[in-house]
Amino acid sequence: MSFMKGLKCRECGKEYPKEALHVCELCFGPLEVNYEYEKIKEVLTRQTIEKRPPNMWRYKELLPLESDPSVGAQVGFTPLIRAHNLGNALGVRELYIKNDAVNYPTLSFKDRVVSVAISRARELGFKIIACASTGNLANSVAANSAACGMESYVFIPHDLEQTKIMGTLIYGATVVSIKGTYDEVNRLCSEIAGKYGWAFVNINIRPYYAEGSKTFGYEMIEQLGWRFPRHVVVPMAGGSLITKIWKSFNELQKIGLAKNLDSRIYGAQAAGCAPIVNAVKEGSELIRPVRPNTIAKSLAIGNPADGYYSAKVMRDSGGWGECVTDDEIISAMKLLAETEGIFAETAGGVTLGVTKKLIEQGRIPKDESIVVSITGNGLKTQEALYGKLNQVTVINARLAEFDDLVRANGKEYALKS
Ligand SMILES: *Cc1c(COP(=O)(O)O)cnc(C)c1O
Ligand SMILES: [Zn+2]
Repeated sequence: MSFMKGLKCRECGKEYPKEALHVCELCFGPLEVNYEYEKIKEVLTRQTIEKRPPNMWRYKELLPLESDPSVGAQVGFTPLIRAHNLGNALGVRELYIKNDAVNYPTLSFKDRVVSVAISRARELGFKIIACASTGNLANSVAANSAACGMESYVFIPHDLEQTKIMGTLIYGATVVSIKGTYDEVNRLCSEIAGKYGWAFVNINIRPYYAEGSKTFGYEMIEQLGWRFPRHVVVPMAGGSLITKIWKSFNELQKIGLAKNLDSRIYGAQAAGCAPIVNAVKEGSELIRPVRPNTIAKSLAIGNPADGYYSAKVMRDSGGWGECVTDDEIISAMKLLAETEGIFAETAGGVTLGVTKKLIEQGRIPKDESIVVSITGNGLKTQEALYGKLNQVTVINARLAEFDDLVRANGKEYALKS
């Protein structure tokens, strides 16, 4: 049973049928999925959810499908870990990591949005799946399309990491590399969507796609024992995830599954591409597009589709926006790996680097609960670390050489006898 009512313009409120529409014809505002919350409130309890299998579909009443998903049944319910070591390093009392670096099947939070988008596109009768991507979406669209036997076209900017390109080609997708920035890729894709009528998951299917991100928020709250964290730090590219985490918290409060919403939401970007953070810092509602230049390629969107709404989430929740340099991104990637054993991609370095900065600035107090959103896996952005880590030590297979090494390191170990 579906509780999806239809689409609704975020600006003027005009309602639309549940079709492949994404822009309001009256005011050009973005369309969003609307639900029958009163009915959901009657049927959905914490116990019902807790009895279901550990994947994102345990919140299916709050997702925009008319039947069961046709792809991605295993996606989601990634770990929320209490990060004691990292918390000690940052001097804070209650720190958590929501870890989508291990999301199934392509190791980023994009599997959440893609499983919803492809399932919905199939319900709407589309035959070809496509996307404009900064990397992780490409991986996920290619993998999930393959898994459900759909043909896929993936459009990327030409300078993506090799691992992300490889991790798309392997699934048999047609990969089109565009000589331009993501924003230029996106503009071309809008034209292709119009002309060919394919399901571009993040363009004409965007209202449905974006809803998948809400599960990152629902899980966080359920895993905290149905409690809202005081502070949540979220990486931003197009700005969809941050707005949907906020929507998910408000929905849980509205249907009575969690109480006393007092979370502050903070947006994180790389200094080399921080259009949303710039607007927040300037107190401006206007997002000024930038030309990206950062190692955090997955976040390199210079003209973010949901920039305006992301800035509003930070303002409305009492949060803030901050950015970090490429060096700070790498330091934070190392810090996360060395303290918690989690290898996150560059976007994770952005999020943790910004969290550290906000704590140092006193914007996030040290004695309140904090969740850091880790959204992608470090194995996919290894290029960013070339020449940035310690060298491996090479010796011959002789005990004496190892003894020399230990001596050279200046360490003392008790010997067995
Ligand atoms: C896509 C992406 C994001 C943010 O995406 P939005 O466009 O802001 O929803 C964050 N982290 C990673 C690793 C991503 O791939
Ligand atoms: Zn409108």
